[in-house]
Amino acid sequence: AHLARIEAVDEKVHAFLHVDREGALAQARAVDAKRAAGEPLGPLAGVPLALKDIFTTEGVPTTVGSKILEGWLPPYDATVTKRLKAADIVILGKTNMDEFAMGSSTENSAYGPTGNPWDLTRIPGGSGGGSSAALASFQAPLAIGTDTGGSIRQPAAVTGTVGVKPTYGGVSRYGMVAFSSSLDQGGPCARTVLDAALLHEVMAGHDPLDSTSVDAPVPPVVEAARNGSVAGMRVGVVKQFRGEGYQAGVLQRFDEAVEVLRGLGAEVVEVDCPSFDLALSAYYLIAPSECSSNLARFDAMRYGLRVGDDGTHSAEDVTALSREAGFGDEVKRRIMLGTYALSSGYYDAYYGSAQKVRTLITRDFERVFGEVDVLVSPTTPTTAFPIGERADDPMAMYLADLCTIPANLAGNAAMSLPCGLAPEDGLPVGLQIIAPALKDDRLYQVGAAVE
Ligand code: GLN
Repeated sequence: AHLARIEAVDEKVHAFLHVDREGALAQARAVDAKRAAGEPLGPLAGVPLALKDIFTTEGVPTTVGSKILEGWLPPYDATVTKRLKAADIVILGKTNMDEFAMGSSTENSAYGPTGNPWDLTRIPGGSGGGSSAALASFQAPLAIGTDTGGSIRQPAAVTGTVGVKPTYGGVSRYGMVAFSSSLDQGGPCARTVLDAALLHEVMAGHDPLDSTSVDAPVPPVVEAARNGSVAGMRVGVVKQFRGEGYQAGVLQRFDEAVEVLRGLGAEVVEVDCPSFDLALSAYYLIAPSECSSNLARFDAMRYGLRVGDDGTHSAEDVTALSREAGFGDEVKRRIMLGTYALSSGYYDAYYGSAQKVRTLITRDFERVFGEVDVLVSPTTPTTAFPIGERADDPMAMYLADLCTIPANLAGNAAMSLPCGLAPEDGLPVGLQIIAPALKDDRLYQVGAAVE
């Protein structure tokens, strides 16, 4: 049924870069065979899923939305891919994304944009717009995203779906193509809080193949999602997440959600996190710096696109020609920014300062989490904007992640879930919940209560 749905609507939505029809049917038949034979089934046996094209899938194309990996067939599965298969989930295909997960609109994909199912002329968010659009257009009931600065939560917010960025280290990064290694985190996307929890439980957990993977039990997210409640909880509203640039209807729906929390018995207090005003600036130094280092591996020698390999060019020239042809504008912009910020003589002024700001942000979180159990805010300052509106204005595009970035810099867990439609444009608004590191279950407990 989901493959038929994809065939019917994805020409318009363009959520998928690759539909693995044969692979999906084979996985589904294998589940049927196991069931018929009375063999034990995985926890999500037969449930279809859309996988962001940043996770390697053995023998199935993985492009990261970039021309530089066009045609590459990975020889191995990411840990997340492996765990999905072990849960007997059926992987329908790979979803569209901003190239190397750099963007907030999916317009930076080398394979064309994705439409927001609520209004196809608008962006579905990014970088994981394909995954959220697949959910919102009922092409898949579950999806996977990655969140470096908001790429799970912001697409969830603007498509009226649920997205969770687990605690940093909660989900293995092995086989997840690296953008900014100290920030990148895979996580679940779904249409309900409980669905997200069921997927979270399957994909999370320690992985010896990822040295930053947390060696601790997965928080009890499913139990929390089944027992939503906020009675007696202290909820902090971050003072910094409103004001200029925030759409009136977004703030209205957010304020109403806060009233719902209060009505359910939460104690709501305002909290002050002055360092959050610097989060965007720090992020746009740290993320490009790590990107410039990570993307050095795309040298046209090991895998991917190779241009100019005709016997007349040196190896260095082949690398340069391939990177020139294979990377898009935003990726090049970030490599240049990052290389500059890391250069000798500038390192302390830029990268070093950004790391200090990161520490201040972590301290702000630690201080307020001494007073409250969770923080709440709008997920994004505005609803989905029209495709093309911010394409030539990187600074305007970067503002989409104003509220999501602090949680990445500190490594906390965070969720976005729908909280109504903005009155002025009828488009979905997201409520963000942030919990301390390793307390991912609180997101689900609160999310299930207000859903
Ligand atoms: N929009 C942010 C960026 O372009 C975040 C992307 C992400 O989370 N992958 O860097």
